[in-house]
Amino acid sequence: MEKATISIPEIKFTKLFINGEFVHSISGKTFESIDPRTEEVIANVSEGDKEDVDLAVKVARQAFDHGPWPRLPGCERRRIMLKFADLIDENVEELAALDTLDAANLYSLGKAKQIHDGAELIRYYAGAADKIHGTTLKMSRELQGYTLVEPIGVVGHIIPWNFPTQMFVMKVGPALAAGCTMVVKPAEQTPLSALYYAHLAKQAGVPDGVINVVTGYGSTAGAAISSHMDIDMVSFTGSTETGHRIMQGAATSNLKAVSLELGGKSPFIVFDDADVDRVAPLALRVLVLSFRKEYTISSWRDCLEEVKTWVVGDPFDPNVNQGPQVDKKQYEKVLSYIERGKKEGATLLVGGKPLPGKGYYIEPTIFTDVTDDMTIAKEEIFGPVMSIMKFKSVEEAIKRANGTKYGLAAGIMTNDLNIANTVARSVRAGAVWINCYFAFDNDLPVGGYKMSGFGKDMGIEALHKYLLTKSVATPIFKTLHGFDHLCDYG
Ligand code: NAD
Repeated sequence: MEKATISIPEIKFTKLFINGEFVHSISGKTFESIDPRTEEVIANVSEGDKEDVDLAVKVARQAFDHGPWPRLPGCERRRIMLKFADLIDENVEELAALDTLDAANLYSLGKAKQIHDGAELIRYYAGAADKIHGTTLKMSRELQGYTLVEPIGVVGHIIPWNFPTQMFVMKVGPALAAGCTMVVKPAEQTPLSALYYAHLAKQAGVPDGVINVVTGYGSTAGAAISSHMDIDMVSFTGSTETGHRIMQGAATSNLKAVSLELGGKSPFIVFDDADVDRVAPLALRVLVLSFRKEYTISSWRDCLEEVKTWVVGDPFDPNVNQGPQVDKKQYEKVLSYIERGKKEGATLLVGGKPLPGKGYYIEPTIFTDVTDDMTIAKEEIFGPVMSIMKFKSVEEAIKRANGTKYGLAAGIMTNDLNIANTVARSVRAGAVWINCYFAFDNDLPVGGYKMSGFGKDMGIEALHKYLLTKSVATPIFKTLHGFDHLCDYG
């Protein structure tokens, strides 16, 4: 396994961020943030629970009902958000290091791209902040009206561990632009960069109480957000199982608006005419469920050859392709899926074992002879395990791609435009990637169909979920006798 020699940055922020200050949790409790590379403690982080969420919501409510942020002209919010984005760029090394320490994101990728992408997404929404407006309506001969587009209110963001920076900015960016105030609960595995981002937002001029971060566990702090009576909307990304609980929390409290970005089982459908040189690197980059028509062992040699160049190791090392799993629970979950795959009769082509020594490292793993009824074909693994399945026709590929309860995304590899268009229209998924995979852009909304959830992140569509439309109507009084025709344009 590759070892890196990069020095670890000092962890500056480990307390809750409420009303513009870093504060201890009311209970005084902390929890350990663990380095997945070494299994050692990185930091003891304040453990917020219901009482802390209550406090954070109270200040967010105050900031929404009486503070400047929702009332600022959009161009002022834009100016502050642009400054926030610049500060993100200025602190890229530290932010990338935090996401590597906490989430095992690849450091070189974080430093060169992911953190700057986060800043760019904030800029994208900054540019939208002064373009939020309603419409003028002429409804009948007696009535005219207009719509006002207003921020939805206090938002609760509950986010997962896989890409802490992306998750933070894709939730906070559009909500800030809309004029909302918010309470963010990062995943308990990855609390560190969210606290850093909150600090940078304050430096940029985001007023106190607008962004609050409560670190802690899902069953306590997270549940307190989804069932809070004074939160107007909850925007969640995470597992489908937790999505059920979030909706229950919203349904049994104040019927707050809900947006759910949930799990997936996204197929990568490879047709015979696909550009073979591109298939293996893409397939291995994502290591997801994969179909190929009438594959032969020689075609899978491409994947095998690629896997041999795949370096698993310390995510601080620039030569590494794949770091450890985020925590012990995820590591054990992935290994148990590999065991299930073997037990249920799939052929283990390569990998399948944990790496010896410390850290939650698992070899990239490929199964062939996978059938639809196997657990590894049906359930989300969220780890470096790929299942290869055969299909014989376009119809069969579509049917089987639609055969899971999820509808997050799908990839199609083909040079046949007709096949690409037919499959793209027929797959019940929120995102379709043709001759690419895992392709994101600020302007491209993401979010699932079916049990992968509803509501979009990214793109202008995400901004709309943080806005409400108010209709205003007023009669047209025709008081000037004889001049009625002057206001009668249609
Ligand atoms: P998770 O659902 O366990 O946790 C996500 C967040 O929800 C965490 O902050 C957690 O503390 C919180 N949470 C847990 N229980 C809660 C409860 N009862 N009430 C309120 N909040 C609660 O998911 P995870 O394991 O952290 O993340 C992996 C999952 O996220 C996978 O299923 C993956 O597919 C999904 N995910 C989806 C997308 C997408 O775009 N659809 C993106 C990234 C991750």
